[in-house]
Amino acid sequence: MFHLAIRGGKPIRRKTFPFYATVGKEEKKALGRVIDSGVLSKFLGSWHKDFYGGPEIRKLETQWARFFKIKHAIAVNSATSGLYCAVGAVGIEPGDEVIVSPYTMSASATSPIIWGGVPVFADIEEDFFCLDPRSVEERLTSRTKAIIIVDLFGQPYDVQRITAIARKKGIPVIEDAAQATAATYRDRYAGTLGDLGVFSLNCHKHIQSGEGGVVVTNDDRLAERVRLIRNHAEAVVREKGEKDIVNMVGFNFRMTELEAAVNQCQLKKLSRFVRTRVANCEYLSRQLRNIPALILPKVRPYASHVYYMQPFRWNSEAAGFDRHTFVEAVRAELAPTQKNEDFGVRIWEGYCKPLYLLPMYQKKIAIGTKGYPFLGPQYTGSVDYSKGICPVAEQMYEKELFTSDLMTPGFTTRDLDDVVMAFQKVWKYREELG
Ligand SMILES: *Cc1c(COP(=O)(O)O)cnc(C)c1O
Repeated sequence: MFHLAIRGGKPIRRKTFPFYATVGKEEKKALGRVIDSGVLSKFLGSWHKDFYGGPEIRKLETQWARFFKIKHAIAVNSATSGLYCAVGAVGIEPGDEVIVSPYTMSASATSPIIWGGVPVFADIEEDFFCLDPRSVEERLTSRTKAIIIVDLFGQPYDVQRITAIARKKGIPVIEDAAQATAATYRDRYAGTLGDLGVFSLNCHKHIQSGEGGVVVTNDDRLAERVRLIRNHAEAVVREKGEKDIVNMVGFNFRMTELEAAVNQCQLKKLSRFVRTRVANCEYLSRQLRNIPALILPKVRPYASHVYYMQPFRWNSEAAGFDRHTFVEAVRAELAPTQKNEDFGVRIWEGYCKPLYLLPMYQKKIAIGTKGYPFLGPQYTGSVDYSKGICPVAEQMYEKELFTSDLMTPGFTTRDLDDVVMAFQKVWKYREELG
């Protein structure tokens, strides 16, 4: 008779875990207010007072700027479009290199490409999974024009060292804070630590309006360029009197009044959601300390972590068996999450394949058929996307890292204890794994 569910034993839990429900009566009421007004968007793509959007957009932007203690907050329809605006605003052009992490959601690295820039991947830190300053330094060339930093899993990057590198080189830092809304470094919020920051309001993030994003900056000029790219810049610059028309190719990246109204309610709940999530993750970490092969998430000095996901590392040598064996056995003990049943148990191995291994980079085919922007004539470097360029990211993906989101607000202590029991049971009966 085996104990482990993966060997036919009785699982710890069959009942689904609670769905992360962030919207409720406040959002319903706010949506009603917008529907009653009849104005679902007020943006106008020409030089007019409505170029900056309607009342709900303005309110959200004011509230966001106040909360995050920053001068400008600019609402967009996703973090992806926010990154496109940010990279365009700092003036990236064909032939420029932008240093970025390969261990992130793909949009962090596509944002230079759409302006003709070439992503250069630097490796990540073993402990915190953000860009490793030493690797960033090694990747600098005369063509490096920006660094895109990602606050992966919910904690800020190495602000001091990355800022020092960027200052010395005279280039901007764009902070992808999509996973780190309300995380802090010393007395500042993630997203406000670089020259421009980008937040996501998609349905997977801490707070949401289905889709959405916000760009923040203290720089008046960059803010105005972001607003232009958000809303058909090319049709606006003349009447507005903009002399610098570089990258003033506009998009429609506008958020609707409906989403802006929902996000005002979400912002009010942010601190509460984050507090609960952090408490849940800290509880889990405390209860799992006795499993020697499990490396618990570490928090950078002076930083707070908001755990978009809870990242664990598996030490196969200490365990005597690999990550996959452990994770599959834990998953077999647990149940899916409500409304996400097809995803199975929400514990995943590897997070994401290092981005340079995607076909776009391997084949150097992105825009058109002729290798733009990776091959000349404007690009005079020769970027390397071979396997092996970022050994730490590859090690995390292939062998060590797994993530869990079985800790979102709405989980009771009993729900969390089931997760703990699954980990503990697999470790206790590990001999059954063979
Ligand atoms: C979610 C995410 C994005 C993209 O967000 P969207 O709002 O869906 O465009 C970008 N970067 C990171 C690190 C993310 O997690």
